[in-house]
Amino acid sequence: MHTKIIFPFFLILSLISATSFAQILNDSLILDKIKNAAKNNSAIPEIITNLSDINGPRLLGTTNYYESAKWAWQRLTEFGADTAYFESFDKQYRGWKVKSFNMEMTNPNYMHIIAYPLAYTKSTKGVVIGDVIYLSNTDSLKTLKGKLKGKILLLGQDFSSFDASQQIISDRFSKELLRQASDNPDPNDLLIGYHSRRSTNQAISNQEQRRIDLKSFFQFCEDEGVVALIEPSDYPYGILHSDGNRNVPSYTKINDIKPIASFVVANEHFGRLVRLIESGIKPTIKLNLETAFNYNPEFNVNVIADIKGTDKRISEQQVIIGAHLDSWHGGTGAVDNAAGCAVMIEAIRLLKASGLQPRRTIKICLWGGEEQIFAGSRDYVTRNVGNLNDGSEKKDFKDISAYFNLDNGTGIIRGIYAQGNSKVKPIFEEYLNPFKPSGNGTVTLQNANQTDHELFDALNIPAFQFIQDPLNYISAVHHTTMDVAEYVNEEDLKESAIIVAYLIYKVATQNEILPRRDFMSVKPNLNGNTIFFLEGFENAKSVSLVSDFNNWNMFGTPLAKVNGGWTCKLDLKSGRYLYKYIIDGDWTADPKTPVDKLLRDGKGHAGLTEVIVK
Ligand SMILES: [Zn+2]
Repeated sequence: MHTKIIFPFFLILSLISATSFAQILNDSLILDKIKNAAKNNSAIPEIITNLSDINGPRLLGTTNYYESAKWAWQRLTEFGADTAYFESFDKQYRGWKVKSFNMEMTNPNYMHIIAYPLAYTKSTKGVVIGDVIYLSNTDSLKTLKGKLKGKILLLGQDFSSFDASQQIISDRFSKELLRQASDNPDPNDLLIGYHSRRSTNQAISNQEQRRIDLKSFFQFCEDEGVVALIEPSDYPYGILHSDGNRNVPSYTKINDIKPIASFVVANEHFGRLVRLIESGIKPTIKLNLETAFNYNPEFNVNVIADIKGTDKRISEQQVIIGAHLDSWHGGTGAVDNAAGCAVMIEAIRLLKASGLQPRRTIKICLWGGEEQIFAGSRDYVTRNVGNLNDGSEKKDFKDISAYFNLDNGTGIIRGIYAQGNSKVKPIFEEYLNPFKPSGNGTVTLQNANQTDHELFDALNIPAFQFIQDPLNYISAVHHTTMDVAEYVNEEDLKESAIIVAYLIYKVATQNEILPRRDFMSVKPNLNGNTIFFLEGFENAKSVSLVSDFNNWNMFGTPLAKVNGGWTCKLDLKSGRYLYKYIIDGDWTADPKTPVDKLLRDGKGHAGLTEVIVK
């Protein structure tokens, strides 16, 4: 006979492990404390107003940047940070600002042109009027030698006009898309978000090379007496893409050249000028630009503050949060990235106001010069974390449990990009569990790069960017004149601050620091089954391999220099791999592979050679 056994309720409770039950209670208590602190005196509206309306824009090296840094430092101190200080990252970065400008078409009809100056360009000599010349590519410029005095050049090489079906889209991630992202095992497959992994060193050297390459172009324009350069915006509805990344790269150092007056204009107004020229009409433009350069080394600082850990055994260990305080110059930098700073500063306020005491030290870093490929964080990481050329460790390397970054606009945090680290995925899923019901607990293995955590990530520090709802970030606001406070969603930011405060408190309170990826482990092996040989490059200082077998590891797998080239032997599991070389920091296709045989992996990597291991 089957006997039904009835468990008394207390016995059922005791079956759930005592710690996990206590943990659940404890977690909801922690979250309640943070939520209560969030209800009163949110600092977010005040931070946005101060960083954007009062002190924006906050371009590298400017008085505005420095005033913002001082303000943030003061607020962090008032919110109870144990220490708050500046750390210099100065490498002779100058500042630049617009004092006054105007642009009008005066012939064949009057039109006030929607325009904005491009960063680090020079003043005109007062008000100037000139005929407009359309340049479909800069190579055709030399043929115009001697014919350019007093002219205004339209830089048309990337121009394409918009049509009426072009929409500005503001969107949130659907549940279904987030579920797919959560299930996706491939970190380089971009289901959501913006950027996969890349070589930071290469991005920096490419940018530097571009500045060098274009020097002679700007010099030629100056020598020929060109009055101004004009590029079209690539946003619709009169929104101006005003940064220093396009036709006129930003020349940020004190000894750099100063390009002649340059502007971005509304795509639609550029289009009208082009159509007039194509119709045989000669438009004229009247314009002026007054800019000012400055160099104040004391302005080039990151703002750093700590909440000291309370557990003596692990208080040296750090959980770092960060966002970039600098911005481009066309808007007020409200969304990119006063919004990110506001969430991170508010998270510090929430932890202090709720009386929660983390065991590890929690550090906030507000970076300068992120828009110039991480000027501030690069200096910090190089001094404190590790060498970004060879991966060798510096003093904080072992003690950083994690770095968390916020820099994808104003949309609410929907979860986190685990950056290919499968060991942290279940940990984050557990920590974000309280936010699952509201749809904000997604953890994806996907990579998300091109902001300050990229450098920590390159050194294999667990370093993460949060998943944020896109809203209108990429469609209208990113690096545009409409990066203004109107497009900051304060309610989203308030929720995000609660998530950040809770998550970092958890990470700062667990017994262990977060696990790191182990993809650094593909090392040359004399008994290996696969030999790589790169012929030549005898003057190179270092050569390594980057491939899916080492998860596109930034420092690659090193080759040894031998007679006639570079080689290494690896022990690889059977399968198909794609690779390329890194030669002195440059990602380079295997020269043995004919160009038309080079492959793409469909995940952002190109110029690859296939190797099959049996
Ligand atoms: Zn940004």
